[in-house]
Amino acid sequence: MKEKNTKEQLIYKLTKLRQRITELEQTEEALRISEEKFRAIAETAVDAIISADKNGNIIFWNSGAQRIFGYTDEEILGKPLTVLMPERYREQHKKGIEKIALTGKSKYTGRIAQMYGLRKDGSEFPAELSVAMWKAKKEIFYSAIIRDITKRKTLEWELEKLATTDMLTQVFNRTKFYEIIKIETERIKRYNHSLSLILFDIDHFKKVNDTYGHGVGDYVLRTLTKIVKNNLREIDYLVRWGGEEFIIIAPETDLGKAKILAERIRTAVEDYKFNRIGTITISLGVTQFTNGDTEDTLIKRADDAMYKAKKRGRNRVEVCEAKRIG
Ligand code: GH3
Ligand code: MG
Ligand code: MG
Repeated sequence: MKEKNTKEQLIYKLTKLRQRITELEQTEEALRISEEKFRAIAETAVDAIISADKNGNIIFWNSGAQRIFGYTDEEILGKPLTVLMPERYREQHKKGIEKIALTGKSKYTGRIAQMYGLRKDGSEFPAELSVAMWKAKKEIFYSAIIRDITKRKTLEWELEKLATTDMLTQVFNRTKFYEIIKIETERIKRYNHSLSLILFDIDHFKKVNDTYGHGVGDYVLRTLTKIVKNNLREIDYLVRWGGEEFIIIAPETDLGKAKILAERIRTAVEDYKFNRIGTITISLGVTQFTNGDTEDTLIKRADDAMYKAKKRGRNRVEVCEAKRIG
C-alpha cells in the first residue's frame, strides 16, 4: 500500500515537473518572441534606441543609433553612455545615475528633454531625448530614445533669424529690439549695472537717394552697418530702428563711455569713403538707462538728443540725461 502510494506520488510529481518544464519553455519562447519583436521594432526605427545597465554602460543599441552617432557595435557596447554626450553634460549625468540608484527615480523619465548629442567625429547635434527605466532581477536598466532634430532646429533658427533680422542690413529689427531691451533692463536692475542707448540717423540721406538712386542708398545702409559693427563689442547690439535710423544697445556702459563710443562711430563713418558718393555723416543721440525708465522713455530721450544734434548742425553727438527722480 505504502509502495503504491509512493509510486502514485512519484507519477504525480513527474507530471507536475513536466507541466513546469512546459510552462518554462513557453515563457522562454514568449521571451524570445518578445525580444525578437523588440529588436525588429528597434531595427526599423529611424531614432537611436539605446539600453544601458544600472551603471549607465551600453548593453544594446540599434542601427539608428549607429547611423546617428557613427560608432560600430564593437566600439560602443559596454562603453558608458557619457561617450555619446558633450563634456558639459557628463558630470550631471553621473550624479543623476547615482541619484537613481538611491531613489529609483529619474527626472528624465516620462518627459522629452532637448539636449545635444556627440558624434564619433566630435561634432554635436541637437537632439530630443526620452528615457525609460525598468527593473529586472532587482537591478535597474535604462533605455533612451534619441532623435536627431538638426533639420527642425535649423529651420527654427532660420525662422527666428527671419523674424528678428532686418533683411537689407542683416542687423536686428524692431521686434528683436523690444526682446533685447526687456532682457537687458531686467538684468541691470537685478545687478545694478549700467546700460546706454545710442540712436543715430544719416544726415541728408534723401539727397543720396535722389542723386544716386535707391540702389546706391541701399548700399550705403549696408556698408554703414558694417562700419558701425566694426566699432562695437561682442555684447553690444545694433538695431535698424526704421529707414536710415539705427539704435545701439550698449550694456555695461555708462553715459560717459557711451559718449566716447558714439564719438568713435561718428568719426569712423565720417572717414569712410563710399563708392561713387564719397562721404556721409550721421547725427547721434546718447542716453543712459535709469531706474523708472521704460523702453519708450529711454528711446524718447535718445531721440531728443539725436534731434538736438541735427539742430546744432548735424555730424555730432549730443547727450540727454535722465531727470533725477526724487
Ligand atoms: P536729415 O539729415 O534731417 O535726417 O535728412 P534726411 O534726408 O536723412 O531725412 P529724411 O527723413 O527726409 O529722409 C530719410 C530718407 O531715407 C528718406 C527715404 O527715402 C530714405 N530711406 C528710408 N529707408 C530706406 C531704404 O531702405 N533704402 C533707401 N535707399 N532709402 C531709404
Ligand atoms: Mg536722416
Ligand atoms: Mg530719419
